[in-house]
Formats: sequence, C-alpha cells, structure tokens
Amino acid sequence: MRLDADTLLIVNVANLLVLASTLPVIMGQKLSPAASAARRSLVVQGVGWVALILSGLWPESWIDQALSTFSMTCISLSHWLWFQAFKAWLGPRPFEKLLVAILWLMPIGYALTFSSYPVRVGWSNLFIALQLLLLARAALRPVSAAGGPWRWVMFGCFVLMAALTAGRGILGAFFTELYPSFTAPHPFNLAALLAANVTLVLANVSLLVAWREEAERDLRDQANIDPLTTVFNRKGWNHAATSAFAHARRHGLPLALLSLDLDHFKQINDLHGHEGGDSALRLFGKVLQGGLRAGDVVARMGGEEFCVLLAQGGADAANGFDQRLRATLADEANKALGHSLNFSAGLACLSANDESLGTLMRRSDEALYCAKAQGRARLIVATDQTPLLSAAG
Ligand code: GH3
Ligand code: MG
Ligand code: MG
Repeated sequence: MRLDADTLLIVNVANLLVLASTLPVIMGQKLSPAASAARRSLVVQGVGWVALILSGLWPESWIDQALSTFSMTCISLSHWLWFQAFKAWLGPRPFEKLLVAILWLMPIGYALTFSSYPVRVGWSNLFIALQLLLLARAALRPVSAAGGPWRWVMFGCFVLMAALTAGRGILGAFFTELYPSFTAPHPFNLAALLAANVTLVLANVSLLVAWREEAERDLRDQANIDPLTTVFNRKGWNHAATSAFAHARRHGLPLALLSLDLDHFKQINDLHGHEGGDSALRLFGKVLQGGLRAGDVVARMGGEEFCVLLAQGGADAANGFDQRLRATLADEANKALGHSLNFSAGLACLSANDESLGTLMRRSDEALYCAKAQGRARLIVATDQTPLLSAAG
C-alpha cells in the first residue's frame, strides 16, 4: 500500500468542506452558540487549508506569503472557535488568554519570518501544537458535570494532532531537507495527514454527541423552569429546595424560607391587561433573581406566588432580603411598568421541629396568610410555637 501526501491532504480538505457545508442541513439552522461555534470552526479550517493549497501555485512569492499567512490565521481562529464551543458546553476553561495571544502571535511571526522556511515552519507548527494542547486540556479540565465520554475522544484527537504537528515543526525547522513542504512524503508527515483524516471523523462524531447532550440538558432544564419569569417552577423548586433543606439539616446550618404573593394582582390584570400582568410577573422574577446569592433558590409556585430559600440565612438575612426587594421593586416597578407593585411575605426559619421542607413551607405560608390579613405589603415572621392563624385573627 502506498500513501501519498497530496491525496491525503485533498481528501482531508474535501471532507472538511463537505462536512462544514452539510452540517447546517443535518443540524438545522437554529443552533446553540456552542454547536454553531464548533461548526464555524470546521468552515474556517476548511477555508484555511484551501488557502494553503492555493498558495502552492505561486511558491515563495508575495501571493504565497499572503495566502499562507491567511491560512495560518484561519487555522488559529478555528482553534479559538473550538475553545468557545468547549466553554459553552463545559463552563469556563483555563488559558483562554494564552490561546488568544498565540492566535495572534503565530500568524504574525509566520508572516515576519516568511523568507526563512525552517523558521516559519518551526514557528507555526510548534505554536499550532501548543494551541492543540490547550484545546486538549480544555476538553477535560477543569472537570465539569456536563459532558460525557465524548470529551475523552476530543482529548485524544487533540493530543495526537498536537504531537504530530510538533513533529512536523521539528522536521521543518531542523531537518528541512526531509520536510521541504507541507505535502512532503516523509512518513511523519504522512502519519500526520492520516491522523488529520481520522481525527476529523472522530471530532465530528463527538461534536454531534456533545450537541445532543446539550439539547437533552436544555430539555431537562426547561422542564424545571417557568418560561415567563425564567425562575424555577414547582418541579425545579422541589428538586433544588429539597436538597438545600437536607444540606442545612445535616450540617445544622440556618435556612430561611420566604413565601411571597403579589398584592391585588387581579386589579393589575384588570387595569393593565393580561400583558401588563405578565410584565409585572417578569419584573418581579428579575428583581428576585437579582437579590440572590450562590446557593439561594427562587421559584414561581404558580400564579403570582413565589418562594425563596435563603441558604445559610437566618431571620436577619431574610429581613434584609425583604427590605432590599421592596426598595428595588418600588424603584423599578414605577420605571418599567408605570405603577407600583407590592407583595406580602411570610418568613419561616428552619427550626428543630421542621422535619421536612413541607413543614417549613406550611409555616411560611401561614405567615403569608397573616401578612395578607393584616393589610398586605408587609413581612410576617412565623414563630415555631405560635399558631399564626389565630394570632392574625
Ligand atoms: P391578594 O392581594 O389577596 O393576593 O389578591 P390578588 O388579586 O393578588 O390574588 P388573587 O388570587 O385573587 O388573584 C390572582 C390573579 O393572578 C388571578 C389570576 O388571573 C392572575 N394570574 C395568575 N397567573 C397569571 C399569569 O401568568 N399572568 C397574569 N397576567 N395573571 C395571572
Ligand atoms: Mg396575590
Ligand atoms: Mg395568590
């Protein structure tokens, strides 16, 4: 069997371009930022390779210099786009600044050293290898709850390509006669081109799996989110608040639960229409979310009723939260809706008698009922012993 570099390169570029142009048909036009970054990466890489092949038509001329510098820029950019896809799929990734620095450094150095083949080939391949290593790291670390085994496949692809690209750089820089062009028939170059074909297939299978995983995750999240206010719905609340409750009980930490209900909301609907009511609910959801800290949970339990769980917060923290919420709402409601928006609140703080989240919620609901009965627009604190309903009467 005889492998030749030209054929391998043409097959690789043809596959890249065919994939880049058919993926929009397969995946549809409405893509997540991650999937579209990954897809754009393929297009940009394909364009880069076409430019590099074309540059060979005018060897060592200014056209060669311009086209191959453009090609190096495209290859760098395609790696940055992959990094963006990882970021969106797996959360923040380290070394982004370094990757961006190399992204510019590599093509600039390539253009400046173009007149020396060994320097420019060594420079570009070693920096591309470094980019690929950073991508390999971004596929795996820091570990993320998201992302299945496809990350290991991507890791393997990037490490393999990094090693082979670094090898090409060393050949070009120090053994130039063995690697006089990017289609040189040296076994190392043939291995790199063969690996480029294999990793292209694997990377695309991984891309599709990552995309499917993302779609499944979105669907799961949607089932837990109230679409109008984008806070948790009752299902999301049950899941998040139950685990926060268990955590607080286990570690003896304070926990405050607020039940909130907008006042005279029916009138808001009557005066400003259902659309006006929806805007008020959206604003309330936004203001609530703005006041939370990590670990807190907020949910729309139905209609104009909300619950907030303040992690590691006692009565003072909950009072402060309530006051800040009222102040922000007084300001924002008039600005955004043109009328005021008030709410009543019931607060229950975790005590030894609260055996379940349900008990705590019952107490905060009773306190809310008292707040309504006592004239609305206020916070009532549930006490562990006092039967609140009779106290309100
Ligand atoms: P109170 O001060 O006693 O809480 O009075 P209220 O008018 O706020 O309470 P009530 O339970 O009588 O009315 C709640 C209203 O909220 C009735 C319902 O039509 C409205 N509502 C429930 N869900 C939505 C929604 O998604 N959008 C809009 N615009 N209105 C809603
Ligand atoms: Mg109400
Ligand atoms: Mg209500």
